[in-house]
Amino acid sequence: MLLDAADISTAYAALVKLRQHSSPHCYLRPVVFVADTERQSGWQWHSADAVLVLQGDQLFEQVAVPDQLEMINRWIDNLPQQERGADGHLQVKVLRLLASRQSTAEPQATPTNYNGYVYPLLQPVFSIQDMGVMQTLGFLEQQNLLSATLFDRAHFCIHCDSAFLNFKETCVACGSHDLDVVELVHHFSCGFTADITRFKAGGDALICPKCDKHLRHIGVDYDKPSTVNKCRLCQHVSQEGNVVAKCFNCNCTTEAKFLDLRRINSYKLTSVGLNAAFYGLKTYFTDILENELQLLSLREFELFANVEAARIARYGKSQSALAIVRFVGLDKIHLELGSKAKQIFTELAGIFKTILRETDIITAYNESMFAILMPETSQDNAALALSRLQKSVEQLFTENFDRSLDIQQHALAVTSELQVRDALERFLNQ
Ligand SMILES: [Zn+2]
Ligand SMILES: [Zn+2]
Ligand SMILES: [Zn+2]
Repeated sequence: MLLDAADISTAYAALVKLRQHSSPHCYLRPVVFVADTERQSGWQWHSADAVLVLQGDQLFEQVAVPDQLEMINRWIDNLPQQERGADGHLQVKVLRLLASRQSTAEPQATPTNYNGYVYPLLQPVFSIQDMGVMQTLGFLEQQNLLSATLFDRAHFCIHCDSAFLNFKETCVACGSHDLDVVELVHHFSCGFTADITRFKAGGDALICPKCDKHLRHIGVDYDKPSTVNKCRLCQHVSQEGNVVAKCFNCNCTTEAKFLDLRRINSYKLTSVGLNAAFYGLKTYFTDILENELQLLSLREFELFANVEAARIARYGKSQSALAIVRFVGLDKIHLELGSKAKQIFTELAGIFKTILRETDIITAYNESMFAILMPETSQDNAALALSRLQKSVEQLFTENFDRSLDIQQHALAVTSELQVRDALERFLNQ
C-alpha cells in the first residue's frame, strides 16, 4: 500500500486506520510512505515499512527493500486457515507485526509524546492511550512471548507518567530552590573551612573570618576543595541539595527518589512468541473435548450434580463421586508446541474417552481444569480412575513429546452438602 506522505500526519492517520483493522490480511500489510519532499524528522516516518523520497520524478532516497515487503506478504499468506479471520486482539497483533517483519520492537525517544518514547512500528495499532504499547509489551514479556533487552532507564512522573521532568536541587533546610553554587575555601594555617562569601573582604581580597589573615596564594595559603549549595533564602550551606523533579506536564513536584524509574526495553520474539504469532492465543483442548466428549457448561454440570446428590440422599442405596483433574500449564502447551499441540490435545481427549464411561459427565472449569461427575461410583473407585488417567497422560507426554506434564487430581463423594463451584475453587487454590 502506497501512501502519499507529503503531509505526514494525513499519511500517518491512514496508516493507523489500516493497522487498527481486525483482519490480519489488512492490518499486517506492508505500507510505503511516498514523499516528494526531503525526509522530515519525527517518529511517524519510521512507522511505515518503507519510505520513498522523490525529487521531481526521480527517486531521491529509498528506505527498506522490496524483498522485505514481499516477505511480509508471504508471511500473511502462510497463516493457518483458522487464523485468517478477524482477530483484532491487541496482543496477537503486536506479535504478528513483529513476526511478519522479522523485526524487534525498538523504542525511539521523542519530544512529541509526553512519556518520551514510542515504538514506531507498533504505535499505530494502539488508540490514544499512550502507555498502551509499553504495558502490552511488558505483559507479553511476562508471558515469555517476548524477551527484553535494556535500551535505557528513565524517570517518570508518578502523577501523570510524563517523562518531561525538570530536575533541580533544593535547600535541605527550607526546601527553597533558590540556591547558589559557591566554592568552598579551606584556610591551611588555621584549618577554617567555609563558603567563599564568608572570606570576601571587598574587591578580590580574601580574609579569613576566623584568624583575620589575608589569603593570598591558592595552593600555598588555601585551597578550594569543592563547591557547595548555599540557600539565598535561609543562607543554609550544604554539600548536597535535595533533588526534586518538577513535571512539565502536570506541574507536580516529586522528590527524585520517589519518581517512577522504569526500564525502557527493546523486545524480541521468543520461539514461544513466534508460535503464538502464527497459531494465535486460543487453546484448542476444550474445543476438542467439546466435540469428543460433549462437554457440559458448568451451570448444566451443577444441575446434574445437585440432582445426583438429591437422589443419593433420598434412596441412600448408592454412591457417586466428583473427580477433579488439573493439567498444570496446559494452556501454555499449544504456544510452546505450535502445530504439534493439536495432536497432543487429540490424544489427551482419547485418554479421557477410554477412562470415562458413557454415564460420566464432564465440564471444563477453565482451559486446564476439568470436573467429572461419576454416578454409581465410590470415592475410592473414582480415585482409581483418576490415577489411571494420570498414568496414561504422563506416559503420553514422556513417550511421545519428550516432556512431562504436572497433573493434580482429587476425588470426593457426592453428598447433599457438596457445592461444585466451591469445591473446584478450593482445589484450584490449594
Ligand atoms: Zn534554605
Ligand atoms: Zn584562618
Ligand atoms: Zn506529571
